[in-house]
Amino acid sequence: MTEILWTPDALTKRRFLIGAGSTAIGLAAARFAQAADDKNSWDLIVVGAGTAGIPAAVFAAHRGVRVLLIEASAQLGGTLHLSTGQMSAAGTKVQKSKGIVDTPAEHLEDVWRISKGTVNRDLVKLAVDNAAEAYDWLMDSGFDMIASHPVKGRAHEPYSKDRYYWGTENGVSIVKVLEQQLKPEIAAGRVTWLARHQAKQLVSGVGGAITGVITEGEDGKSAAHRGKFVLLATGGFNSNVKMYEDLQGVKHYARMSYPYAQGQGHDMAMAVGAYVRGKENYLSNFGGIMETDEPQSHSFARFNTYPERRQPWEIYVNVRGERFVREDVPSVDHREHALLKQPDLRYWVVFDHDIFKQSPVPIEGWDREQFEAAFKDKAMFFMADSLEELAKKTGVNAAGLAASVAAYNKGREAKKDAFGRKHMPLAIAKAPFYAIRQQGYSITSTVGIAVNNDLQVIRKDGSAIKGLYAAGEIIGTSQLMGSAFCGGMNVMPAIAFGKMLGQRMIPLTSA
Ligand SMILES: Cc1cc2nc3c(=O)[nH]c(=O)nc-3n(C[C@H](O)[C@H](O)[C@H](O)COP(=O)(O)OP(=O)(O)OC[C@H]3O[C@@H](n4cnc5c(N)ncnc54)[C@H](O)[C@@H]3O)c2cc1C
Repeated sequence: MTEILWTPDALTKRRFLIGAGSTAIGLAAARFAQAADDKNSWDLIVVGAGTAGIPAAVFAAHRGVRVLLIEASAQLGGTLHLSTGQMSAAGTKVQKSKGIVDTPAEHLEDVWRISKGTVNRDLVKLAVDNAAEAYDWLMDSGFDMIASHPVKGRAHEPYSKDRYYWGTENGVSIVKVLEQQLKPEIAAGRVTWLARHQAKQLVSGVGGAITGVITEGEDGKSAAHRGKFVLLATGGFNSNVKMYEDLQGVKHYARMSYPYAQGQGHDMAMAVGAYVRGKENYLSNFGGIMETDEPQSHSFARFNTYPERRQPWEIYVNVRGERFVREDVPSVDHREHALLKQPDLRYWVVFDHDIFKQSPVPIEGWDREQFEAAFKDKAMFFMADSLEELAKKTGVNAAGLAASVAAYNKGREAKKDAFGRKHMPLAIAKAPFYAIRQQGYSITSTVGIAVNNDLQVIRKDGSAIKGLYAAGEIIGTSQLMGSAFCGGMNVMPAIAFGKMLGQRMIPLTSA
């Protein structure tokens, strides 16, 4: 007999043969066999009731099939509870009503341009071709969009068209719609929502086809669930420091993602033959100000490094005291890629007394009083009577810092900056001197489980693992954003892919 089962103990990665006379059939195997009899048998099992998982469950339920929605936490919505929830979609009804002419083809070309061709073009095409339908569905279901939207975007490299939308309550505006769509399906018994249960492993049958999932409840009890198809929508791994560092090869600097983003879906998929890809596309943002110097701290404020919002008066130096980028370069992508080459993805914003007093307050959302007070008690704010002392306090190389400040001042006088910077209102010359440490970090998972264009999980040889699909951040941001941040290209594709899988892509048939 060839059927293979991964038991709950397969956390230890052991295999057991069913029906081979093995004594290792085990409790979970018995439960799994029993599952078919005790109604724990489903057309579709969705693992993760978040951004991608809920639309999948809702639309599958519309097809009249039995859906089990497994969720580790007590709540619906996943990362959307933290997410800004910005979405991009071209050809939407809202755009049309506002006279914006836009197409998925233009969206695709924008993503291609912004990512410098580093995305998975097929998957981006699938996402943008289906984004408008998904966005229109949200709007028709009562999504509370900011009235002035769509826009081109600000935080990332802007789109060429106004196709960027978000809700009045950020990601929570989306959760409200998803919940409202899901609840009737739960009430009608079409979707069974199993909260506070972690999916622990996938069960495979003949030829490696996935036939179910084993879960563990908060009470520690495991249960087996048979499913004709399984969709992994478990999100990323950004709250799992070890996995983050192992898979991406970079240090984990910020603990700011959804606590359940533990990469359990990745583990489960890899245990049945899946593989991960996308490491080469890792990118961090241009930094935030961390609460503490702990390895995984929380960013509580941002120095405004967007020249279109506030021109820089300061210089940015790395730990060697060297400048590494033209501070007023218009492209945020350029700044992010420059930071990627710096030690520890870290830099210090350096300025002097006159800049401190005369420049607009540089911390987003702060007034001058808050800004001044930060130098008294915030860990990342430094003040000193000399550049040498500032270097000592910050850990920046003193000779490098002195040389960079001198070169900047000289270039400013000559109106010829070494980096081509244009905005240089004041020299950095008068004590006290100041520095603010900025830390680059990422809150999403670049690396992800490889899928084909039908969103089936695949092995390294390209063959699909029968019965197993994945959508959302589990497939890795590297696929849809490449080595760039493309506005709204996590949330919108997660919703669109979840919707499409439930609606038509998974070959579900009701009994
Ligand atoms: C602060 C922040 C801001 C962001 N802003 C944006 C933005 O503006 N635009 C954008 O496009 N992207 C943004 N993102 C990223 C985006 O929000 C996520 O990529 C997306 O929401 C992930 O959707 P998902 O369905 O893959 O995962 P989630 O929505 O996180 O859903 C996964 C679900 O699976 C559950 N789960 C995990 N493991 C298991 C298990 N073993 N068993 C059962 N359940 C499990 C989790 O509890 C969770 O509910 C942001 C992310 C963060 C953290």
